[in-house]
Amino acid sequence: MKYKISQYIVTSEPIINDKYRLLYSTVSTKLLLLKIEDHLRLINRAFDELDQDVLQNLIDAKLIVDKDFNELKSIIDENKKVIADDKTLFQVISPSANCQLGCDYCGQVHSKDTLTDDLSDKILKRITHNVGLKDYKGLFIGWFGAEPLMGLKNIRALSKEFLKLSEERGLKYSAKMVTNGLSLKKPIFFDLVENHKVKNFEITLDGTEKHHDLRRHTKLKQKTFDLIFRNLKEIVNDERFDDLNVDIVVRCNVDQSNYMSTFDLMELLDNENILNKISFYTAPIHSWGNDAHLKSLSLDEYAQFQIKEFIALMNRKHEFAIIPGKKTHIVCTSLKENAEVFDANGDVYNCTEISQVPAYENDDFFKVAKLYDESYSNKKRPYSEWNDEVLNGDFPCAGCKILPICGGACPKLWKENISPCPAIKYNIEERLLLEFYKNKDKYVSKKDTQEKTVVAEAV
Ligand code: SF4
Ligand code: SF4
Repeated sequence: MKYKISQYIVTSEPIINDKYRLLYSTVSTKLLLLKIEDHLRLINRAFDELDQDVLQNLIDAKLIVDKDFNELKSIIDENKKVIADDKTLFQVISPSANCQLGCDYCGQVHSKDTLTDDLSDKILKRITHNVGLKDYKGLFIGWFGAEPLMGLKNIRALSKEFLKLSEERGLKYSAKMVTNGLSLKKPIFFDLVENHKVKNFEITLDGTEKHHDLRRHTKLKQKTFDLIFRNLKEIVNDERFDDLNVDIVVRCNVDQSNYMSTFDLMELLDNENILNKISFYTAPIHSWGNDAHLKSLSLDEYAQFQIKEFIALMNRKHEFAIIPGKKTHIVCTSLKENAEVFDANGDVYNCTEISQVPAYENDDFFKVAKLYDESYSNKKRPYSEWNDEVLNGDFPCAGCKILPICGGACPKLWKENISPCPAIKYNIEERLLLEFYKNKDKYVSKKDTQEKTVVAEAV
């Protein structure tokens, strides 16, 4: 036999009067509509009984592969190549160790420290060194927290230096920011976009006011929803906003106590003319070196909730990807070559979830450098062996059919014996159906249903 069925195939239940099934390859990210009888031929490996055009479509979509083809090795090799070929240096900076908020689930301990001039100089020096480590074409900075806007002065000063450095080295420069949104006043937002090239903002709203304020309150338990929401509304409704080409992502962290409030939040965002200008998603609360995940929805509960969230978003005509249209080659910051995470105390990591978390405070394993101690050196970057470990079969990802689109989610959590599997692992079949019914015309032409053409257009 010349072929075998790919290991990376997801199949829907029978649809359209039980005459078809949807098949999705997590390698090609193509979605095909296949007649039920051809699906039977496929699963019975009766490849020579398939029409030539059907067979060719299945091969093109990588749903069938050569029988000797090692798919896992090919995925891992491709991941490694993309990492090696990546020409954008990603550096993450916490300009402040402080945050106004005291969220129930946060694992960080905040202090009033912001970057000193000395530390800012050392960060600039190190990033100047890092951009020379490869033939980089771009520099991308993530302003991260604690709350980055508590260190706005440092952001402005360092951005100026990075823009200068990028111009000198011929690098494309841009930045993103993860912020609680409390201090993101309209003039600050426009200054950051126009003068400091911040092109992507992620703001968290944990449901409507009632739910958000119960968990994302200030350290003194004061409410925050109203201010954050007002900032967001003023920004997206400013006449300059539509031409900016800036992404604002609203994230809603959910657990058992607030997940149902997501629907009211969507309604509010929609009614206030915000939803159509931003991206929206929910994320389950996870462990942050603490027990925050214990209040989470079960994996299955969250997966089912997410389908309802998608339907609600579709009903509101909100644009988002129901199924991934591309692979995840680089699972996270820790796997990007030379990516570093600088905190406001001078510690340098390659993972974004370590800084200011007491459980990791005295563990040098996570620190790739200490800006306050030149004699310290740690050449071993945590999780950098991730792809080889998956290839070795050290983690369940090795046998997972969605590995190409997932990448393994979070090496750190796997190593802490917490499964980081995303909801898509548990609801991908339902997502195929949603995608199909949303974009039916893309997959089924009249010809497909009338004639014997069996495989419709791919994603
Ligand atoms: S290892 Fe996990 S926590 Fe660390 S950067 Fe990667 S995804 Fe984030
Ligand atoms: S993290 Fe989970 S869903 Fe992702 S590849 Fe690994 S086993 Fe699969």
